[in-house]
Amino acid sequence: CGVIGIHAPGIEGISHMLCFGLIALQHRGQESAGIAVLKGDKMQYYKEMGLVQEVFNDDILNRLPADIGIGHVRYSTTGESYVSNAQPLVVRYKGGSIALAHNGNLVNAVEIRNRLEDEGSIFQTSIDSEVIANLIAKNYNLGMKEAVIESVKEIKGSYALVVMIDHMLIGVRDPNGLRPLSIAKMDGGYVLASESCAHDVVGAEFVRDVEPGEIVIIDENGIESIKFSQGCRKAICSFEYVYFARPDSIIDGKDVYEARVESGRILARENPVDADMVIAVPDSGIAAAIGYAEESGIPYNVGMIKNKYMGRTFIQPDQKSRELAVRLKLNVMKNTVRGKRLILIDDSIVRGTTSKRIVNMLKAAGATEVHIRVSSPPVTHSCYFGIDTPNRQHLVGATHTVEEIKEMVGADSLAYLSNDGLVKSINFEKCGLCTACFDGDYPMEVPEEADKFMFE
Ligand code: SF4
Ligand code: MG
Repeated sequence: CGVIGIHAPGIEGISHMLCFGLIALQHRGQESAGIAVLKGDKMQYYKEMGLVQEVFNDDILNRLPADIGIGHVRYSTTGESYVSNAQPLVVRYKGGSIALAHNGNLVNAVEIRNRLEDEGSIFQTSIDSEVIANLIAKNYNLGMKEAVIESVKEIKGSYALVVMIDHMLIGVRDPNGLRPLSIAKMDGGYVLASESCAHDVVGAEFVRDVEPGEIVIIDENGIESIKFSQGCRKAICSFEYVYFARPDSIIDGKDVYEARVESGRILARENPVDADMVIAVPDSGIAAAIGYAEESGIPYNVGMIKNKYMGRTFIQPDQKSRELAVRLKLNVMKNTVRGKRLILIDDSIVRGTTSKRIVNMLKAAGATEVHIRVSSPPVTHSCYFGIDTPNRQHLVGATHTVEEIKEMVGADSLAYLSNDGLVKSINFEKCGLCTACFDGDYPMEVPEEADKFMFE
C-alpha cells in the first residue's frame, strides 16, 4: 500500500494534492483509493475500489475542503478486496474522529483484536489496521499524543502510518523501519508520504525519512519527534529496492534506480554469459538490464513493450487474472529479437508464471537462446510485512532448484543475484536490511501459517 498525509491549513487544494500524491503512489496498490480530510472540526472521507483516477474527479475533490488530509492506495495483504476494507479508516471516538492509513502488516492483530472484542469493541472491517484505530480510540483519555504512543507500543509487525486526529497529522514508522515513510516541506505545511516520488509531484521539498521507531507529530507549531522504541534491529525492506518502490524514489538515503542498476552490474560479474543482446522484462527489470549491459559490454535493447494501461501483474489478487494479465501486458519486438541470443533480465521470480510466458513469446518470435538473469536472489520465504508474496508452496524458489526452474520456464540458462550481491547493490549494512524473503532471516517472530483472510 501507499500512504500520504498533508498538513497545510490555509492552503487551497489540499485534497487535489492528496490525489496527485496517490497517483504517484499508484504502483503501491491498485485495488482501492481514498482520502480523508479535516476542515475546521469537520472530517469527511471518500474511498472506492479502483485506481485513483477512477475513484476521484474534480467534483468529488471540490467537495472535500481541507486543512489537513490523509490518503491511501491499497492492495490487500490482510483482508479481502472489498470497499469496506478500503482506507483511510475513519472511526469516531468520544472526543471526535480519527482517520488512519496504514502500509504494512501486523503480526499480532489477531491477539489484539480478540482481546478488544472480549472487552466489547466492535470491528467493521476485516483488515488488521482497524485494531490500531480501536486502540487509539480506547486510549483517548490519555490525550491524543499519548494515546497514539501507547497504542503503537502494543502492535507488532510492519507499519508506516499516517493518522489525522485532533488537528494533528501524525506519522509513525515501525521500530524495524520495514516500510518507508518520509517528510517533505511545502509552502505553508508538511507532507508525509511512503515514497519521495509523491513529494515531488506536489512540489514539496524532501526533509528527511521518518526514523524507525519514531513518531512525528505535525501541527501549526511545526514538527515534534518522539522516539517510542529504541535498540530494535533496523530492517528496511530490501524488496522495496528490488521491485516495489518507484525507481525515481529515494528511500532511507538510497536511490532506488541506482541500487537497481548496481544490482545489474553485480549480476553481470557474478553470472556472465555470451550473448548478442541484453533485454529487460519491462518495467521492473529495465534498470538492472542497463547495469548488466554496461558491465558486460553487451548492448542493451528494447526487446519487449509493456502496455502502459495495464496494471502490475503481480498485484492482481488471484492466479487466473495474473496469467491473463501477462498476455495483456507484454509484447515482443519480433524484428529485434529474431535470430538473437538474448540475456533477459527480470528483477525477481516469484511464482515463475511471468518468466515462463516470456520465454515462450521470445522463442516464438525467433530468439535462438534465452538466458535469464534475475537481479535478486530466489524468493524462498513469504513476506509477513506487507508485500503480497504468496504462501511458500507457491514460491517456485522455495519448492524447486534453480536447475528445475530453468527447465520449467524453458530458458537456456538461469542465474540469480547472490544474497551478498543484493546487500551490496543497496549499499547498506546487511544488519540494516530485511532480506527475509530471500533467506528466511525475519527481523521478528512470524506466525506459523499466515492467513490473509483471518478476519473474514
Ligand atoms: Fe521486504 Fe522480503 Fe522483508 Fe517482506 S520479507 S519486508 S518483502 S525483505
Ligand atoms: Mg517485473
